[in-house]
Amino acid sequence: MPRCAHADQVAITELPEEVAGCEDCLAIGGAWLHLRLCLSCGHVGCCDDSPARHATAHARTTGHPLIRSIEPGEDWSWCFVDETAMRIPEVQGEPRIPPAPLAP
Ligand SMILES: [Zn+2]
Ligand SMILES: [Zn+2]
Ligand SMILES: [Zn+2]
Repeated sequence: MPRCAHADQVAITELPEEVAGCEDCLAIGGAWLHLRLCLSCGHVGCCDDSPARHATAHARTTGHPLIRSIEPGEDWSWCFVDETAMRIPEVQGEPRIPPAPLAP
């Protein structure tokens, strides 16, 4: 298993109580499927199964390495640099999220 060395870049350990959705989709009137939160700055973006893939786009443009799923019941994180999934126990909270526009 590859190890992720970016845990020291986790600035968000307390997840927000509630998020409005993918920030970038909301700005352009787009639709998302699943939500991912950037652990460096708190940006909320959409997953790679969403048309615009805003979480990946955010990581690419900012260099922020780690996201966490904020889907209900999911607590995994993903490092874009190491391309590896992990759990980061320091990150706490389960935000309320609105129904996904693209939910089946
Ligand atoms: Zn990493
Ligand atoms: Zn989006
Ligand atoms: Zn970020």
